[in-house]
Amino acid sequence: MKKKLLISVFVAFLLFPCFSLKAQRNQLERPKVVIGIVVDQMRWDYLYRFYNRYEEGGFKRLLNQGFSFENTFINYVPSYTAVGHTVIYTGSVPAITGIVGNNWINQLTGEEWYCTEDPTVETIGSSGSVGQMSPKRMLVTTVTDELRLATNFRGKVVGVSLKDRASILPAGHSPSGAFWYDNRTSDFITSSYYMNELPQWVQAFNNRDIPQELMNQEWSTLYPIETYIQSSDDNVSWEGTFSGEKEPTFPHDLAQIFKRDKGAIRSTPFGNTLTLKFAQAAIEGYQLGEDNITDFLTVNLASTDYVGHKFGPNSIEVEDTYLRLDQDLAHFFDALDEKFGKGNYLVFLTADHAGAHSTGFMQKHKLPSGDEKLGDLQQNLNKYLSKRFQGDKLVRSFINDHVVYDMDKVQDAELDFDLVKEATVEFLKKQPVIQFAVDIERIGEAPIPEPIKTKIINGYNYKRTGAVVFIPNSGWMNGNATGTTHGTWTPYDSHIPLVFMGWGIEQGTSHRHVRMSDIAPTIAALLHIQMGSGNVGTPLVEVLD
Ligand code: ZN
Ligand code: ZN
Ligand code: ZN
Repeated sequence: MKKKLLISVFVAFLLFPCFSLKAQRNQLERPKVVIGIVVDQMRWDYLYRFYNRYEEGGFKRLLNQGFSFENTFINYVPSYTAVGHTVIYTGSVPAITGIVGNNWINQLTGEEWYCTEDPTVETIGSSGSVGQMSPKRMLVTTVTDELRLATNFRGKVVGVSLKDRASILPAGHSPSGAFWYDNRTSDFITSSYYMNELPQWVQAFNNRDIPQELMNQEWSTLYPIETYIQSSDDNVSWEGTFSGEKEPTFPHDLAQIFKRDKGAIRSTPFGNTLTLKFAQAAIEGYQLGEDNITDFLTVNLASTDYVGHKFGPNSIEVEDTYLRLDQDLAHFFDALDEKFGKGNYLVFLTADHAGAHSTGFMQKHKLPSGDEKLGDLQQNLNKYLSKRFQGDKLVRSFINDHVVYDMDKVQDAELDFDLVKEATVEFLKKQPVIQFAVDIERIGEAPIPEPIKTKIINGYNYKRTGAVVFIPNSGWMNGNATGTTHGTWTPYDSHIPLVFMGWGIEQGTSHRHVRMSDIAPTIAALLHIQMGSGNVGTPLVEVLD
């Protein structure tokens, strides 16, 4: 009896503070606006590799005022942009969202699709197919859709990026708008999926010719170049160049480069500057956060990805891009403070994937790497299969590290498909560059360690991926001689930053292993809204209590 009483006092003590806090709420509390920032290709270690060179208001502010999940991982393959953005905002995995790559081939029909391509809609703000885009191929709702549903479509949702896919997929199926950059006109544009005319504020923004202004300069390093001691020499063989450049060295003559190609702003830090300026214009244009209904702005900063692809993670160009982004973020947060008041808005910052070190860099330092080309391997596999079975070119593609077969040929020759897959796996396993290969229908019994096995299953969609999947060696880069790429399961591609800051978030750090698909349900829980329709993630309780 005494014991029981003690327990109930203890339980009441535990529950009471929480209960009383909730009882005091006479209205549901939500932030004025949620701002999701996805830094394209940002490796988690960039938070610390350049930490001492960041200023107070950008990345350091996020870490010193926000809550950082230090061990956040992508929980599927392949780690590409469209897939990452979809998972961040759906809390799901590609097996369920249907966004299994930037492009994919339907093995059953042989049709190839770009993730957001939609020939049934029109380009708005430009011409051609650059705006013929929509989120229709994403099979589930996003947390941004759910905010629209929860507010009876009164809460506004806007997507912003230089990349169509990184604007469209985060904003979901039913946003107020989504905008991206047109290389030909250097304007922000949209599609008739969303609206039939560019809003006045977008037209006004485009008329200011900001890309021209940002590119009318040389790109020199922000600080004296000899202070970039965390990076390789400026001129190394594994860095790419802008078209027309002889060497990959500072200063980069942006005015000349822009004259030839207005898309080149993407591969400079000023593409991020432009995007954040456009994001601020969107806040004003849509009057985000001005009433008491929560709005959501999704921002992808794509230039980090383009600069990374061209120059590689150990280039002075990448370091300088992050130092400049740090300053841009500091200005952006200052503007948000001024507009909404500190603590009235919720920010999260993460990445859609990370990226590998350049092959040349790895070789120079005797680190494991490989530069075999998949194209050669596919040819050899086809030769091998045609020796064993009737018909040539049975394999259509190696897209997204899946073996996609030409099913017409398999059926016309009346081949036993199981035998074809078996022979494929046998062949691939013997290749020095391949670590694992498996007929995905048999993955349950395959001796593949976690987390690789689960990542393969999470990335598999019967209608949009191939029948055999392979995992290349760590450090392998598909013959990319310069810069970097990404797409594999490895920590260098899949370990991403995740920091929450602002409304209701206390400073802190967790080293718990969490997954990219936990981000959306956490936002949903913070907002007290339903999670997305394909959600498999779990809310991160560290930022909820
Ligand atoms: Zn990306
Ligand atoms: Zn360089
Ligand atoms: Zn990329």
